[in-house]
Amino acid sequence: MAQRILLDMIRLRSVMAENPALELPECYFRGSHTGIGFKSIRELATFRFSCRKCEDAPCIAVCPAEALEKDADGVIDRHTNLCISCKSCVTVCPFGTMMTDFFKHHRNKDLYYDLGDSRELDLFIKTCPPGVVTLTDADESPSENIYLLNNKVLVREYLYAAEKP
Ligand code: SF4
Ligand code: SF4
Repeated sequence: MAQRILLDMIRLRSVMAENPALELPECYFRGSHTGIGFKSIRELATFRFSCRKCEDAPCIAVCPAEALEKDADGVIDRHTNLCISCKSCVTVCPFGTMMTDFFKHHRNKDLYYDLGDSRELDLFIKTCPPGVVTLTDADESPSENIYLLNNKVLVREYLYAAEKP
């Protein structure tokens, strides 16, 4: 099996806390965004694993552009064609789920990498803060907080477990 990309969201948060002005590189799979807009795996990982999936999600309620909705699994999905990058959702989220640079309209295009291209993937890993993105032969491992985002990407993140009544 080809190696998977491991995105360590726990490490990324601590790097961002030390240097909030850091301009992060972004990555995506070319063609993967057809119909859903241009999204990085960081955004997909955040909504899938970091978000607490609030029942009456304040981020959805506050969005002036109706750009956010939940998919069938309750995961927040952002319609990039509607989002006006106002960041109201970032401000209102009580858990600081979204990083403040998340929805910038104009990013440095030199910092976008296609993960389907081995040369660009290599550059992306080198451009990321050390240890945030690595390649691995490992599989999903909940005991190590490692989960599958898709068949090419693993994400390390602490999952929120709602208390049972
Ligand atoms: S940044 Fe985009 S998704 Fe968030 S509230 Fe504004 S328009 Fe909605
Ligand atoms: S408010 Fe924050 S934690 Fe709640 S659903 Fe929205 S992004 Fe997720």
